[in-house]
Amino acid sequence: MMQLSIPLNFIGTLYREISTGLIDMEAMFNLLDEPQEVVDSPAATELVVSDGAIAFKDVYFSYDPDREILKGVTFEVPAGKTVAVVGPSGAGKSTLSRLLYRFYDVKAGSIEIDGQDIRNVTQASLRKVIGMVPQDTVLFNDTIAYNIGYGNVAAGKAEVEDAAERAQIAHLISTLPKGYETEVGERGLKLSGGEKQRVAIARTLLKSPPILILDEATSALDTHTEREIQASLDDVSKNRTTLVIAHRLSTVVGADEILVLKDGVVAERGRHAELMKLKGLYYAMWERQRAADAARENLAKVEAEV
Ligand code: ATP
Repeated sequence: MMQLSIPLNFIGTLYREISTGLIDMEAMFNLLDEPQEVVDSPAATELVVSDGAIAFKDVYFSYDPDREILKGVTFEVPAGKTVAVVGPSGAGKSTLSRLLYRFYDVKAGSIEIDGQDIRNVTQASLRKVIGMVPQDTVLFNDTIAYNIGYGNVAAGKAEVEDAAERAQIAHLISTLPKGYETEVGERGLKLSGGEKQRVAIARTLLKSPPILILDEATSALDTHTEREIQASLDDVSKNRTTLVIAHRLSTVVGADEILVLKDGVVAERGRHAELMKLKGLYYAMWERQRAADAARENLAKVEAEV
């Protein structure tokens, strides 16, 4: 009996590991919710990052042949700087981040990192140097510690806790009876969008990549949560080359350059103050947001009084 139970236990463990592995694989693809279309060329080399400077050079892209999404987009993100992209829904902002992560290849033009065309390097070496905080983070069906530690599997408990602290999620974790061992994901504790994003930020802090893509969630966050997330995003993007796909204008004020993307072209570019002076698209977006914020605050006041 004894002899039999050991192999059965072993098979049980193996089965659990395999099925967790499969769920992880699945989650990994869902995590970014993107197809795996691009294949490494046989001559692909390893990307060598010296500074982490990004250059989009006259980039054209379409998902479908009859509808062009990007029509000659050129910009640089110098090493360690932050460039934010704003613009109307559907303008092609997130497409820029998908191209940089190489879910798709450009149709014309090129994207370079430290002078190397990303089409000529292996995807593994490209993705190793890029941290991605996506709009909607999909968590693994596992503990919070696992979900954060995934950014760097070699990280110890203290490092995981430090990352959680910096991503401003540690306080929430401390209120849970099982703390870092709390199961999250589909079958566990459901975290809010903002909380999930902070888990993704903690994961990225642990990975500590030289290049960062932040794709902000479209959903409105309350002011307090927005401030907390902003603080952790500022922390994670410090001294890293950062491309922010911004949906909240408050995020972009401090950016080194802001691009206003409209109909697949860069319609305006500059720093916040310069763009405000232009009184163009960017200015109009701010005015609209200000009006929406004021309306939201009024509503909150009325609700508080009732
Ligand atoms: P939002 O602010 O709403 O997130 P966005 O500026 O980030 O919008 P993108 O997600 O880059 O916009 O999408 C640009 C356009 O490409 C949209 O019209 C979208 O419908 C289209 N698009 C996005 N993904 C695909 C896809 N996989 N296949 C076909 N069309 C797509």
